[in-house]
Amino acid sequence: MSRVYNFSAGPAVLPEEVLKEAADEMLDYKGSGMSVMEMSHRSKVYDDIIKEAEKDIRDLMNIPDNYKVLFLQGGASQQFAMIPMNLMKNKKAAYIITGQWAKKAYKEAQIYGDAVAVASSEDKTFSYIPDCSDLDIPEDADYVYICENNTIYGTKYKKLPNTKGHTLVADVSSCFLSEPVDVTKYGIIYGGVQKNIGPAGVVIVIIREDLITEDVLPGTPTMLKYKTHADADSLYNTPPAYGIYICGKVFKWLKKMGGLSVMKERNEEKAKILYDFLDQSKMFHGTVVKEDRSLMNVPFVTGDKDLDAKFVKEAADAGFVNLKGHRTVGGMRASIYNAMPKEGVEKLVEFMKKFEAENA
Ligand code: PLP
Repeated sequence: MSRVYNFSAGPAVLPEEVLKEAADEMLDYKGSGMSVMEMSHRSKVYDDIIKEAEKDIRDLMNIPDNYKVLFLQGGASQQFAMIPMNLMKNKKAAYIITGQWAKKAYKEAQIYGDAVAVASSEDKTFSYIPDCSDLDIPEDADYVYICENNTIYGTKYKKLPNTKGHTLVADVSSCFLSEPVDVTKYGIIYGGVQKNIGPAGVVIVIIREDLITEDVLPGTPTMLKYKTHADADSLYNTPPAYGIYICGKVFKWLKKMGGLSVMKERNEEKAKILYDFLDQSKMFHGTVVKEDRSLMNVPFVTGDKDLDAKFVKEAADAGFVNLKGHRTVGGMRASIYNAMPKEGVEKLVEFMKKFEAENA
């Protein structure tokens, strides 16, 4: 077996332990004689899997009882529509534009009502998080929307915006379970799981109960109402059953690792190795202002397209894959999610040092 160091932004590396356990259970899940992929989502054995997964994420994030945890489909992108459809009672919402994903959510919301951009960092290719301490949020806005970690640009809010009493909605796709969060500060926390938690196909929505109502925009399809899924404990229709099972295993792995405070320490330690190297390198440079750097996604450039391409190729040949940056930033991006071992980052930095010495 030869596993690479996979720096993909998502779908991304998962804990080896989880993958091995799933492989062991592939043909016969706990004496059921079948794979989780083959079993009815209405069976007792599957009910135990989804209930346990919910319990474990509740434990990990310390989710209060007045929040529902929903396991849905449609990816994070479907939430761009579901959020306004379910929450825009006054047909108004404030969006903070810190990257392409926030912008897509903002554009989608404009279909349903008056989505207002109250801050943006587009002027500098989204390389920073705008000052959100005193935003001009319309009084009647139904919510304030952020993308908390910007996968493409490598920025992260270190402090949540001052929403002036409005409900905060956050896309945490690329920082889900990477550090502790105070769930009570949000109305909705949601994310696709394919970066930090599991295989593509599952989106987790943590939503405060008072936001789950029948009072949704006219024409909202049954499948796009939070109430439909909340009332049925995520089993209104066939859920992404196998994906949820893997998420459950990752929750157990995170608990075994010591929970989210320990993950935060590990993630800080890993990111520091890479950022410290970038800060002293004469060849590689980080693209984000220091105070807004993400612990999960680290974009960097050499400033020379050909050299970037040479680096990406040689790195891949050496077993460090998926380092090519997003086309809008160029250069490289190392995504170092929970399951990326410290050793992977150390070895990458060693490789970068060697590359710098050879190509100076
Ligand atoms: N939001 C963020 C922060 C992302 O990084 C991504 C995908 O990379 C998305 C949303 C879109 O997710 P999906 O492909 O699950 O719709």
